[in-house]
Amino acid sequence: MTKEPTRRRVVVSAPDIVEVLTEAVPPLEPGEALVEMSVSGVCGSDKAGAHGEHAFLSPPYYPGHEVVGVVVDVADGVGNVVVGDRVTVEPTLVCGHCKPCRHQAENLCENLEFFGCGYREGGMADVFSVPAERLHKVPEAFSDYQAALIEPLATPVHAVRLAGDLAGKTVAILGSGTIGLLALTAVRRAGAGKVLSTDTLAAKRRLALALGADAVVDAGVDDLAGVVRGELGESVDVVFDCVANQATLGEAVKMAIKGGTVVVLGGARKPATVDLPVIQEYQIRIQGATTYRWEDFEDAIDIIASGAFDADRFVTATFPLPKAAEAFAAIASGGEVKILVVADRSGR
Ligand SMILES: [Zn+2]
Ligand SMILES: [Zn+2]
Repeated sequence: MTKEPTRRRVVVSAPDIVEVLTEAVPPLEPGEALVEMSVSGVCGSDKAGAHGEHAFLSPPYYPGHEVVGVVVDVADGVGNVVVGDRVTVEPTLVCGHCKPCRHQAENLCENLEFFGCGYREGGMADVFSVPAERLHKVPEAFSDYQAALIEPLATPVHAVRLAGDLAGKTVAILGSGTIGLLALTAVRRAGAGKVLSTDTLAAKRRLALALGADAVVDAGVDDLAGVVRGELGESVDVVFDCVANQATLGEAVKMAIKGGTVVVLGGARKPATVDLPVIQEYQIRIQGATTYRWEDFEDAIDIIASGAFDADRFVTATFPLPKAAEAFAAIASGGEVKILVVADRSGR
């Protein structure tokens, strides 16, 4: 009798319980590919999901939606990738026939499932199965670290698209974690004028300056909006709120007046109130932004290929797959930028 092939995979089994299970490799369904994981990012949404603080994601779930790997098998009928291709997953699993899907808004699919966030498969595993149509090929010149930033960068690329023309505009980016720093890259790419970033941590403010912010402000100051406007010498045309809580949303609205736009792209955890008379009287637009579309992924690949930033500066910690629980503990500390779980070939 031949032994069934097994894999290890990470499961967030209960709030703050991250385990590595050994189980059978899943058989491929039609249209699926089997991918051997190289690296898989731990995201802010994983931090919230693992703590039981995420609005739309709770344990148990199989994490890993920022994943890079190599195709090792394909089911019949898969034509877009072949064994040996290096790929990253666009984790939005869309139905293709609902109203948003029919109107070029498939990120808003009414039947959306999310690979690595509640779906039966996630990328934090020795191998995983995934619908092959959601795979993007990674350019050969990319390092795995660069490839791991395609998905996180696609989120601000989409948010920038929703913000409208940024050419010459004054922009503030609240929060300089992975999304805030990648938003900085996307905003620069879109031709923004003055760009200011905030964070409570000096190390992250320094990183924002190194990545092209014209100015940085400590997010912990009193009257953040006043300080930001003083620093910029004017109001802000577009604020990207990459933190998305009551305090940051309130400051974002104050910075933006009048006629400004506030794009909320951080993973918001709780409801927040807004100053409705100000929103109305000063004609402020509050724009939600979620995930990305295929073209945002492809733009993110182009931006990284252009050498717009040094991916190695983003990746501040790595943990082998069997130590995934430590990776989750590290993101909870808040001091790291991008944390990656990396393949562990020794254990197979
Ligand atoms: Zn993410
Ligand atoms: Zn749909």
